[in-house]
Amino acid sequence: EAKRLGRSTACFYDMKLAAALEERMALENELRQALMNGEFELFYQPQISVSDTQCAVVEALLRWHSPARGVVSPVVFIPVLEETGMILEVTAWVLRQSCRQAKIWRQQGINLRISVNLSALDFRQTDLVSRIEQILQDEAVQADWIELEITESALLDDIDRTLCILHQLKELGLSVLMDDFGTGYSSLSYLKRFPFDGLKIDRNFVKDLPEDTSDAALVSAVLAMAKAMGLDVVAEGVETVEQQQMLADLGCPRLQGYLFSRPVSAQELLALDMFTTYPTP
Ligand code: C2E
Ligand code: MG
Ligand code: MG
Ligand code: MG
Repeated sequence: EAKRLGRSTACFYDMKLAAALEERMALENELRQALMNGEFELFYQPQISVSDTQCAVVEALLRWHSPARGVVSPVVFIPVLEETGMILEVTAWVLRQSCRQAKIWRQQGINLRISVNLSALDFRQTDLVSRIEQILQDEAVQADWIELEITESALLDDIDRTLCILHQLKELGLSVLMDDFGTGYSSLSYLKRFPFDGLKIDRNFVKDLPEDTSDAALVSAVLAMAKAMGLDVVAEGVETVEQQQMLADLGCPRLQGYLFSRPVSAQELLALDMFTTYPTP
């Protein structure tokens, strides 16, 4: 009896594994079509300058409108793009699309910088810098219209190579921010060692403010340190007025979160009325 049960359990798991593999392959195949079929769209989430409560920077966040699955979260599909290497092509698309959008907004008299997420795999590409330079050139976009976000995990074990890439990106005129700051394990030493322009405090340290006193102490210390080092700071995941107030009091220059807006389409963004406009040429 035990033997028979054991066998049927094994068989059950084999079937589950087979189903999971099949689902994974289906997802991969659909993602291969997605770029070609125009199923990706960039949404944009405002970052508010505390000084004037206006938005000068938006983060580009990828959305996949799958015909079969509906809107799929990047948390689900970005890892698949990374594991298959497809992310390289997608990052190039995101960057190009961001450049085009930045130009459109400028024609409308709105000077918005766009912050683009790079993945760890992008950072491992040997010709990353020249590819980015090429896109900026093709699209005739000034480098200071674009910011790049990279996570600590994207930094290479080869410190010299990481330094070299960061310096080259800065030489192009791009700002580079460390994303999800605080979630890694050696963020502080990395900030000292690498030429970042700023950091984004991860939502995990913001979500329990203002009540959580240890998070408040940590955020306060990070802001003091960033100020001493001349770094820009964005707090992620600001959802309440109390959080906004506390972060402003602690001197955080930029805030991003649902309190101001969820990520929205380019068209919806303009309706938010958070932008200083300039006369169009
Ligand atoms: P991330 O770069 O840390 O982006 C911030 C995420 O936090 C976004 O999730 C955003 O919608 C969410 N968020 C913003 N404000 C709030 C808030 O107040 N409360 C809560 N609960 N969440 C908030 P999203 O759009 O689902 O993206 C998830 C992650 O997927 C991103 O995290 C990023 O790592 C990755 N991702 C998204 N777009 C791209 C892309 O174009 N390229 C790459 N390589 N990764 C991307
Ligand atoms: Mg980001
Ligand atoms: Mg982030
Ligand atoms: Mg985050």
